[in-house]
Amino acid sequence: MPRTMKAVVKTAPHLGAEWRDVPVPMPLPDWVLLRVRATSICGTDVHIYGWNQWAQTRIGIERLPQILGHEVAGEVVEAGSQCRCIRVGDYVSAETHIYHPADLQAMLGQRHIGERMKIVGVDHDGCFAEYFAVPESVCWVNDGAIPPELAAVQEPMGNACYALLGEDCDVAGKSVVILGDGPTALFAVGIARAVGLTTIVVIGASSYALGIARRMGADHTLDITDSGVDRVQYVRDLTGGYGADLVLDMVGAASAIQEGLKIIRKGGRYSAFGVSGSATIPIDYNNGIVFRGIQIHGISGRKLFDTWYRVRNLLASARVDIRPIITHLLPLERFTEGFETAMGTPRQCGKVVLFPDAQELAAARQRMSAT
Ligand code: ZN
Repeated sequence: MPRTMKAVVKTAPHLGAEWRDVPVPMPLPDWVLLRVRATSICGTDVHIYGWNQWAQTRIGIERLPQILGHEVAGEVVEAGSQCRCIRVGDYVSAETHIYHPADLQAMLGQRHIGERMKIVGVDHDGCFAEYFAVPESVCWVNDGAIPPELAAVQEPMGNACYALLGEDCDVAGKSVVILGDGPTALFAVGIARAVGLTTIVVIGASSYALGIARRMGADHTLDITDSGVDRVQYVRDLTGGYGADLVLDMVGAASAIQEGLKIIRKGGRYSAFGVSGSATIPIDYNNGIVFRGIQIHGISGRKLFDTWYRVRNLLASARVDIRPIITHLLPLERFTEGFETAMGTPRQCGKVVLFPDAQELAAARQRMSAT
């Protein structure tokens, strides 16, 4: 095992990160060490890379330097002395919400939102590196049929799964409006198609991403830059005049949230996944939520490990083919290009996947070009 490795490190409280030599982490007794095979850029990484208001308050300068990244697929190369389930050689991904088993929420089946829960790449060093240490308790053994470039994105696909299915999974034969066209929104389209929603509408701002949404199975896409369209009426027209059974907010902008509450039908479910830039958003509480009987479900992470199980099965069975969403494969060293791609507006990418190892990247490129 080498002593040092290359890693993408957030070193200073402003835009950017550095490509640095750092020590290979030593796993704690109940942690494992992975050789990272593939890792992908998430919105959270973009917030930290850009050092926005959220990153400044949630992470803070005192935690720097810190390795970025949390979406991963890798091979276990070392297992601590107390590990009982995960073994050297296992091909795994990792849940990023490191739960505390004694939290009340964890005991009630809500491990992803426990009081003492910690997040990889936010509270701990992340996986934009050659090696990555993570607790055994959050490792998820991958199906060998799922290649690393797809296995790495199971974590955000789990967000999409949870936002769409909610707690009761009562979605078949229903309509959904997805606000946003980022990768998680696009994953949600594929899952919606596979699990039998009958009207799938995506409202976004990138004609490129909306094209991917259609390839993933969206029935209708609407570009918000097409200002002549009354979006509330547009959705009513597609849903028999009622409004959508489900609205997934994957934007977080005040205007999208306000509109989402008008687009949803009476008694519908609103999944709140987009993180708002401002903490206070004016909404018509009485007429928008109370008297319309709207259920609002905050989505912070994914249900463990229910969503991992479903996502694995959806990918391994090819019921959902997410390859149209994996638009960029890059060497990890070119992370700056990856971030610039992910941050560009209007969006000209789906998911950006990074590879520390040149051979892994070449193999992934070959698999993707064979499709
Ligand atoms: Zn993520």
